[in-house]
Amino acid sequence: LFDFKIILGKNGVPVAENFRLEQSTIADTVQAGQVRVRTLYLSVDPYMRCRMNEDTGSDYLQPWQLSEVADGGGVGVVEESKHDNLAEGDFVTSFTWPWQTAAILDGSSLQKLVPQLVNGRLSYFLGAAGITGLTALLGVREKGHVAVGADQTMVVSGAAGACGSLAGQIGRLEGCSRVVGIAGTDEKCSILVQEMGFDAAINYKKGNVAEQLRELCPGGVDVYFDNVGGDISDTVISQMNQNSHIILCGQISQYNKDVPYPPPLPPDTEKIRKERNITRERFLVLNYMDKQEASILQLCQWIQEGKLKVRETMVEGLANIGAAFQSMMSGGNIGKQIVLVSK
Ligand code: NAP
Repeated sequence: LFDFKIILGKNGVPVAENFRLEQSTIADTVQAGQVRVRTLYLSVDPYMRCRMNEDTGSDYLQPWQLSEVADGGGVGVVEESKHDNLAEGDFVTSFTWPWQTAAILDGSSLQKLVPQLVNGRLSYFLGAAGITGLTALLGVREKGHVAVGADQTMVVSGAAGACGSLAGQIGRLEGCSRVVGIAGTDEKCSILVQEMGFDAAINYKKGNVAEQLRELCPGGVDVYFDNVGGDISDTVISQMNQNSHIILCGQISQYNKDVPYPPPLPPDTEKIRKERNITRERFLVLNYMDKQEASILQLCQWIQEGKLKVRETMVEGLANIGAAFQSMMSGGNIGKQIVLVSK
């Protein structure tokens, strides 16, 4: 068994060295109600940056403890079971999977997975058929006010990431007539347009974003799926229409700074938002878990029908999970960043 211990204790940009790998052993015996699992895939996600602070800024997030094993979304296989509803060979997932190659877990903390739903691509349960897909779908449905035939233009920031790449496609499936993405490289932009059906994409690290956006969204912006906040969002909001809607999914450009969540908009942008009656309500996917089952089925159906294109960036080996997290936080991923722990 290898497990991961975190050693971060200060603010700033997360680096791979904030984590350390240690070898240890797990208990020999599985107790009643428990299962022994082998880890297949682990997820690294932006919210984990908040778990590196003593104060995570959210009631629902517990800080990771120094020198304790980190945890997050994971998928694995049951190798021994003393839980009534789980058997050897079952595939299972949890939001609090320890960053270990193997573990003994309470069976009641695990959800059983149906691999056929994702054509056997089990890692999708950490992305398009998991929390990421739910965030994109429920964000659009709960906060986007998207309607078929309403001729709406949607802009997505962080568009080539896990949530963003799905959100733009879902915006289209739900009725938007024009979808424009904003992402950090030319390669990402061309994948958005050529593979994911976006009408256009802007590389925010090149050229003038405001000018390009004005050209690409001649009727203004009706729905803004915001993953990043900061300057990019101020620019998009300045081109939003009267009575339009921001889906406040995340603000990754602010996560390494000591600011409250959601960060308040700068006064000029807030003035525009108020004058134009633009909604910007906090969105948290965990508040909609009553819709989880039906929404996952919808996402899996779209995946199987080829209507939702899924990209993953896969890194191999538990030893590389810190580097994978660092890379994702700084744009190294296209689609969902996954760590393959064992096959
Ligand atoms: P992701 O988009 O796959 O990965 C993060 C991406 O953010 C990077 O690939 C990078 O792409 C971009 N980025 C990093 N720093 C940036 C900056 N300063 N300015 C602009 N872009 C930057 O991650 P994800 O898991 O899909 O999460 C996306 C957002 O959704 C995050 O804000 C996350 O907190 C949020 N989220 C919210 C909920 C919810 O319930 N509300 C649930 C899940 C996730 P580039 O190359 O384009 O820079």
